[in-house]
Amino acid sequence: MKIAKIKLSVIGMTLKTSFSTHLGTVRDRQGIIIEVIDEDGVSGFGEVVAFSSPWYTEETVQTSLHMLKEFFIPLLFAEGIQHPSEANLLFSRLKRNFMAKAGLEMAIWDLYAMRSGQSLSKLIGGTMNEIPSGVVVGANTVVEAIKQMEHHLENGYKRVKVKISPQFDYEYLKEIRRIFPYVDIMADANSAYTLEDVDRLKALDEFELLMIEQPLGHDDIIEHAKLQSQLKTPICLDESIVTLMDAKHAVELGSCVVINIKAGRVGGIETAKSIHDFCLASKIPVWCGGMLEFGISRAHNIAIASLPNFTIAGDISASDRYWEEDITFPEVIVKDGMIKVPTGAGIGFEVNRRRLKEVTIIEETFTNN
Ligand code: MG
Repeated sequence: MKIAKIKLSVIGMTLKTSFSTHLGTVRDRQGIIIEVIDEDGVSGFGEVVAFSSPWYTEETVQTSLHMLKEFFIPLLFAEGIQHPSEANLLFSRLKRNFMAKAGLEMAIWDLYAMRSGQSLSKLIGGTMNEIPSGVVVGANTVVEAIKQMEHHLENGYKRVKVKISPQFDYEYLKEIRRIFPYVDIMADANSAYTLEDVDRLKALDEFELLMIEQPLGHDDIIEHAKLQSQLKTPICLDESIVTLMDAKHAVELGSCVVINIKAGRVGGIETAKSIHDFCLASKIPVWCGGMLEFGISRAHNIAIASLPNFTIAGDISASDRYWEEDITFPEVIVKDGMIKVPTGAGIGFEVNRRRLKEVTIIEETFTNN
């Protein structure tokens, strides 16, 4: 495959509802949309899911832009690839910067799927025609969290994730459980605790959460293993798993019994799939995490979540959960808690170029001479 041009668009949109964790609040979301165009004019799209500040991982929109412009695009143009599965190995010559790599790698997968007339889901081995949908509540108060949960449950979501921290845990979850005794609830701590909080975390066992996500250090697997041995609630790792090797180490140590796979966090589809395949063989269920993303990343997530071991509802929600108008159509719709996996070529969604242009802040095109 010969990539002739790559267009980077830094875009910005305001979330319909601001999203809070103990690490901060996101209201205005920026991201980078990557369009790769081959010599026949066929396009594939990817999205860099890094935030504007490094609260989730070390990457930001600006660091990703820098890495793409100065390193990954020149490397891709200089070396070329025959198949999208080669991009991951090529980019691995340069360290980390997984979200920047993922945006470009996933655009190449979409282009390849477009060219071969297959859906991305089928191309990568997806087996599900529809996927279960979950939603994340990032609220500052229990009253607001309950209000948001009621709204989401009325809209058909079957699983709700809430953000917790030592300031919002036992009493917060107790009230939520009182109002919603039978709803599947999981809690994401985004590394808000240390091992000294083990009793505090053990107290949460009574709420029968589906799982607790990333309670300890963002790069830890050792202490999570010590914690899991004392908790009834299953631990899921998110931030700690950025490579296949991390997943292998975490499973071997017993640091978690569930893994949240975000293609953006792990450098793209190739590594996401390898972690998925390893977890399937190891009987570790996985689910697809969200990044308050735009439509391109959500479309990729739907394809990835159609792989057979994505047995737990992910953070993949309807478009109208986030945006007044997304950059893709048709809008992602949740019906009876499920999202249909598109069957059209590539990611299976059209890019709304009028909307993309409207929300573009910076645009740059690179030509492969
Ligand atoms: Mg998380």
